[in-house]
Amino acid sequence: MTFFTRRDGALHVEDLPLTEIAARFGTPAYVYSRAALTAAFNAYKDALTGRDALVCYAVKANSNLAILNVFARLGAGFDIVSGGELARVIAAGGAPAKVVFSGVGKSADEMRAALTAGILCFNVESAAELDQLNTVAGELGKKAPISLRVNPNVDPKTHPYISTGLKSNKFGVAFEDARSLYRRAATLPNIEIHGLDCHIGSQLLDPAPAAEAAEKVLGLADELAADGIILSHLDFGGGMGIRYSDEHVPSATEYLAAILKLTAGRKEKLLFEPGRSLVGNAGLLLTKVEVLKPGSEKNFAIIDAAMNDLMRPALYDAFHDIVPVTERDATVHCWEIVGPVCESGDFLGHARNLAIDTGDLLAILSAGAYGMTMSSNYNTRPRAVEILVDGDTAHVIRQRESISALFALESTLP
Ligand SMILES: *Cc1c(COP(=O)(O)O)cnc(C)c1O
Repeated sequence: MTFFTRRDGALHVEDLPLTEIAARFGTPAYVYSRAALTAAFNAYKDALTGRDALVCYAVKANSNLAILNVFARLGAGFDIVSGGELARVIAAGGAPAKVVFSGVGKSADEMRAALTAGILCFNVESAAELDQLNTVAGELGKKAPISLRVNPNVDPKTHPYISTGLKSNKFGVAFEDARSLYRRAATLPNIEIHGLDCHIGSQLLDPAPAAEAAEKVLGLADELAADGIILSHLDFGGGMGIRYSDEHVPSATEYLAAILKLTAGRKEKLLFEPGRSLVGNAGLLLTKVEVLKPGSEKNFAIIDAAMNDLMRPALYDAFHDIVPVTERDATVHCWEIVGPVCESGDFLGHARNLAIDTGDLLAILSAGAYGMTMSSNYNTRPRAVEILVDGDTAHVIRQRESISALFALESTLP
């Protein structure tokens, strides 16, 4: 974590102390490092040197316009799952021609918007979607570029809520059905076959399942070639994991090595859809201790961030490291780190040994992915401010929500 360092006991993001960020912008605050985002993207770029490849950042991991803009400037494409995400990519200066559109339930309106924008490819997830896309494209007088998202039935050995490539998951076309669906796609007048896609899950730490899926994908691509269906790209999805506590995380080069070896000498362009691994370790959630409530069974530290700000602990029982912003020379106690929301599931961390006092600042680490994008206004809590640090400069990239804005779209009865 070289972009988040402790200097004289005070935690910094790049060259800015978090104490200064809290004083200027308040808490809770999501704080990101531009250098960390850039380094994460360049790790993929370096791993793919010399190959015809496109890294399509999975927007759902963190969809702030400034973050999309950082990646667009670095040459990224984007993996989107809704018309809303397409609008964000375009507003952030991303190129529609580098956008792939995933998702099991694309609406006709979303298909129209993506066809009109001229995206690179639809990752089609069912026979019904293929037919609807053919119809919508016909109405617009366009041809829809497609991949089928196949489900390679590989166990990614991750949390069941974030594994997506098993037969029992709702995602993708069953591997056995893919070849015949491609043959049918080839007969549809408003469909143009471009590629083949898979995505087996998230927070993957072992490269082996991804390589196993890639092998299946390549075998299928060769069968399709025998049917006269020649693909221009192969999309291996996202899923590479990050460090939350003490996991061993392979580098992008290590993670992609097997896939790059398997695809050596092939003509298809290679696509990847990383989300978490580009943003997760580039952000933290800065929060303040509001109330200490020591008890006979458990000690509660109630902070000003909650499950509505960072849902991953409540949703997946996910672990985020929590550290003091300024180290204090005091007795360490074991704390339950909880938010003010009226749910027993509202915790950010269990049994953390910390020396803390009321008013102290804490940093919840590795919160750049699936943090802000999963946040809500539950309990009518305004969402946190988002800050992007670049060197010693802090940019507000999303203002803290005002309370009146939370019910501005509502009305009482006449
Ligand atoms: C969520 C998702 C990704 C990104 O997954 P990460 O684990 O964040 O890398 C990529 N592709 C698809 C289709 C997804 O749904």
